[in-house]
Amino acid sequence: MHVILLGAPGAGKGTQAALISQRLGLAHIASGDLFRQEQASGSELGKIAKSYMEKGLLVPDEVTVKMILGRITAPDCDKGILLDGFPRTLEQAKALDEALAKEGKGIDLVLYIKVSNEELLRRLSGRWICRDCQAPYNVVEMQPKVAGKCDQCGGELYQRADDTEETARKRLDVYFAQTMPLIEYYSKAGKLVGTDGEKGIEDVGEDLTTAIAAGIGR
Ligand code: AMP
Repeated sequence: MHVILLGAPGAGKGTQAALISQRLGLAHIASGDLFRQEQASGSELGKIAKSYMEKGLLVPDEVTVKMILGRITAPDCDKGILLDGFPRTLEQAKALDEALAKEGKGIDLVLYIKVSNEELLRRLSGRWICRDCQAPYNVVEMQPKVAGKCDQCGGELYQRADDTEETARKRLDVYFAQTMPLIEYYSKAGKLVGTDGEKGIEDVGEDLTTAIAAGIGR
């Protein structure tokens, strides 16, 4: 099964993808995490990505598509994939459709997590992430038990450079201009299922798992 998680930065895609991919045995592929890994390794791709990411801009389609199409052919993707943060432009969506079609495959379901603008900005500018396992925390309503340490793995918490208020605003502008058209694209294709992303984490997870289960039966 090939599933896309669609939603603005801060909608909870990463949190939900971690829950769902475990539950359903899908490979979780997060384009932002892949770019951050490339940066940490000091690769050429990482350097290119950094210059866009720190400004809150999208990494060019050509670079991004190549990275993701390479990743989804790995053996762990045979059971199915859950894409988190990709595609983010119409060009990326079309390139993905074409690549899957060549293999006789296609996107089965697009889960759209809806969250209001004010809530997105509040979540992004208060967000802290575990350096080791990427678990997200929030200074207001999801504080770790021990300040600065991840509850799950004890890793160090840090604020992403692109989660400052100014860059977060830019990322939301980019989302509305470049990623929102995907909602119509997948809706026309009959693949979009919307979910209220302002419910509790467990409830959103239940809604998404139910939508995937219904999708499997289609
Ligand atoms: P994320 O962790 O998904 O919020 O992504 C962090 C940053 O990585 C984004 O603000 C972009 O600069 C870059 N990025 C992640 N996914 C993509 C994508 N599909 N296309 C272009 N840039 C991306």
